[in-house]
Amino acid sequence: MGGLKLRDSVTALRGVGPGSAKRLARLGIAEIRDLLLHLPLRYQDRTRTTPLGELAAGTECLVAGEILGADVNYGRRRSLLVRLQDDSGRLAMRLFHYSRGQRESFAPGAWVRCFGAVRMGPLGLEMVHPEYRLFPSEPPPPAPELTPVYRQTEGIATARLAGWIQAALADVDEEFGIPLPDQDFPLLLDALRCVHGRAMDDSDVEDATEERKARLAAARRRIVLDELLAHYLVMKRRRAARGGLTTTPLPPTRQLGRELLRNLGFRLTGAQARVARDVLNDLASNVPMMRLLQGDVGSGKTVIAAFAAIRAAEHGCQTALMAPTEILAEQHFETLSAWLGPLGIGVGLLTGRLAAAERRARLAAVEGGEDLVVVGTHALFQSGVAFQRLALAIVDEQHRFGVEQRMMLRHKGEVPHHLVMTATPIPRTLTMALYADMDVSVIDELPPGRQAVRTRVVTMSRRNDVIAHVGQAVAAGAQVYWVCTVIDGQEGEVGLAGQAEAAETTTTGEAPPSIAFRAAPRDPERAATTTFDELQEMLPDVRSALVHGRLPATEKATAMAAFKAGEIDLLVATTVIEVGVDVPNASLMVIDNAERLGLAQLHQLRGRVGRGSARSDCVLLYQPPLSEVATQRLAVLRKTNDGFVIAEKDLELRGPGDILGTRQTGEQAFRIADLAEDAALVPLATRIGDSLPDSPELAGQITSTWAFGTDADYAGM
Ligand code: ADP
Ligand code: MG
Repeated sequence: MGGLKLRDSVTALRGVGPGSAKRLARLGIAEIRDLLLHLPLRYQDRTRTTPLGELAAGTECLVAGEILGADVNYGRRRSLLVRLQDDSGRLAMRLFHYSRGQRESFAPGAWVRCFGAVRMGPLGLEMVHPEYRLFPSEPPPPAPELTPVYRQTEGIATARLAGWIQAALADVDEEFGIPLPDQDFPLLLDALRCVHGRAMDDSDVEDATEERKARLAAARRRIVLDELLAHYLVMKRRRAARGGLTTTPLPPTRQLGRELLRNLGFRLTGAQARVARDVLNDLASNVPMMRLLQGDVGSGKTVIAAFAAIRAAEHGCQTALMAPTEILAEQHFETLSAWLGPLGIGVGLLTGRLAAAERRARLAAVEGGEDLVVVGTHALFQSGVAFQRLALAIVDEQHRFGVEQRMMLRHKGEVPHHLVMTATPIPRTLTMALYADMDVSVIDELPPGRQAVRTRVVTMSRRNDVIAHVGQAVAAGAQVYWVCTVIDGQEGEVGLAGQAEAAETTTTGEAPPSIAFRAAPRDPERAATTTFDELQEMLPDVRSALVHGRLPATEKATAMAAFKAGEIDLLVATTVIEVGVDVPNASLMVIDNAERLGLAQLHQLRGRVGRGSARSDCVLLYQPPLSEVATQRLAVLRKTNDGFVIAEKDLELRGPGDILGTRQTGEQAFRIADLAEDAALVPLATRIGDSLPDSPELAGQITSTWAFGTDADYAGM
């Protein structure tokens, strides 16, 4: 045997045909390497048999018992019931599918050892289709084992999947993973063997399980280190490759930016001035800029984008500004028109709600070069827009920014300068790991006069008081956001771990019951509509409007414009207003069912108030009882307004997938690494990464082990 290659299709394994390959593909497993990197979700502890008298329904145990008898039971469904007993009690093993030979094998007096889930049956505790093994007499104590449990898909039993993984581990005949300089690190393949392994060599050590757990953890760290390192090296390479590209240099010329500076009506903060310099310096080079601009909500990133766009315009070059939502695109269009229009720079808006003729006209203005700055949603730009002379792409509020999606725009074979702006505060260690291919600037200072938003956490039973308070605030001249998440509070949070568990097929062969407790579909639009009606009824004198994702774009735009113009006092909205919306006069925000949202999202939302000089308030309305994590989340918000502190906390409480907004969208940056857990390995990965000499062999090794985009991505961009 042997001779299996990492990039071979799984069908190269004996027993894997096209049907199984299709099912494996649902788990993201196409090649041998994918199979090897399909790590166990958890381990079953089969190191100890539980006396039958101590069994409890709902647990998963290893047991042994003497067979009292095996009878066919004609209930609603025919089954074979094997009755077992030991010194302490009894248990039934129930099989719905069995052969005659199997039935005859259960001779009274023989013993069975089985592993499975215990449940309450009609006649007492039972296990349905456990894994079992027969013994002629009382079996010896089990070899201590931790058995891997894999994320599964329909139609592939655990044992088969585990068997294929073992076969692949045994037969793979190629170097796997990054060769680490330090001898202390095991080979990646050995680490994988450990993680996938089931038997333990030191079988009679009392603490073998603990020891095994420690070894598993070490092996997992080795694998994570490989992945972080590969990621880092890919980013470094991309960065180096960028150095070899050329694009239109945009050096200072007409100094139009100074005119904007005079017209702004405020002075730049020190941080803004510094970051603007970073950006303008980058633009002067003929190497495409790739800069990430981080700045907390309200720190004033838009004006930096404006300076960059002005610089491009001075050269007769175009800028594309991409926003994640139409509301935000419209807002940017207004801001930039007001700032750049007086300088004679044409600004155009491309949104989905343009009528066909209008859209054609706008596209023509872009193609003809009359619009030097073009604002639109990401989706619109991705569908292809012909520019006359695009030199700068600005991506606003892009927190869903996977490794694969960097460098989204190209223009006539060239990569334009890129500026990516985000309010998602990313802890520094993660920035190093995730964005090593970019330069990073941080606006770490808020405009003067901003006051921290005073945040209160209020239980739902006081909702009417809050509504009355909204009425008073409006009477006193404030503008208010009321943000709705979901109506009903009865559904618990279903964590991702829970869903992964639900996706496991049980060894009993029965459909996993867990599917039943999936969360009901969220319907924030309905929540917003109902709340809107309720608020209108309770506050008849308040001028209110409703904005949610399912409204026609025109209606949304009208409502937003009216709110911005101060013609509306109360804006009831879904989280569509989460990013970027800027109405400085708004000074009160109520967030309904705040316990439903993550920290980062709550922080983003709250950032919609506290933008003007007025003291602002935020009320987090929650539906008790609060989970432990939700309690902590709300407490963090009450205590601090600092996005970076909140990001660190979020990392602690939930994990970076949520911080980076990737987990929900399934665009995980990493396959195995969990930055919340593994953040401590990042400095090690970068240190090793900097010490490894770049070579084609190393590059090949990385691409054949870890799938970060395609090989072509790796080589260039
Ligand atoms: P964000 O970083 O969240 O995108 P914006 O660019 O929307 O922030 O700016 C928030 C608000 O602060 C805007 O109303 C903007 O005009 C204002 N602003 C920006 N910079 C300053 C400054 N230096 N002084 C005063 N106000 C400022
Ligand atoms: Mg913004």
